[in-house]
Amino acid sequence: MLPLITGATTDILLKQTERVKDPLAKEIQTLLPEMIETMHKEKGVGLAAPQINLSLRLAVAEVDGEALYLINPEITSYSQEKILFEEGCLSLPGEFFPIIRSEEVTVRYQNEKGLPKKLRATGLLAIVIQHEVDHLDGILIANRYQKQQKQKHKPLNKKYDRLA
Ligand SMILES: [Zn+2]
Repeated sequence: MLPLITGATTDILLKQTERVKDPLAKEIQTLLPEMIETMHKEKGVGLAAPQINLSLRLAVAEVDGEALYLINPEITSYSQEKILFEEGCLSLPGEFFPIIRSEEVTVRYQNEKGLPKKLRATGLLAIVIQHEVDHLDGILIANRYQKQQKQKHKPLNKKYDRLA
């Protein structure tokens, strides 16, 4: 099992990651199922490489039983419609923050076969993708929360124990 990196001031969690040059490289192909396994064990719905001490632009997510491998993901559009969600993070055990995000996003990435993909995601999946891409840009929910304090939002009455 991959060890988790935690702490709001931990350097690797706060820095920009590097692109994955070859998604088909053996190390990456070995890593992907290990990340899924670790995410399951920790009862998360997503896991980004910095959380396991790798500064790579790579994350996994699983919502509704469907595993998603996000290699070099970039969010290319954000809906104007926002949702508020109580988010947790495997890197910040026991801490939860109400985070405002777009209800829908479009993400471009390479899948586990290295193929370019484009996905339009809504609801929980959109939240998880934004949470994971934040990790890849060195942004934790604690920092995201501080930045959004002055924005208006529309609350959503759902709470999840953990996210990524
Ligand atoms: Zn997280």
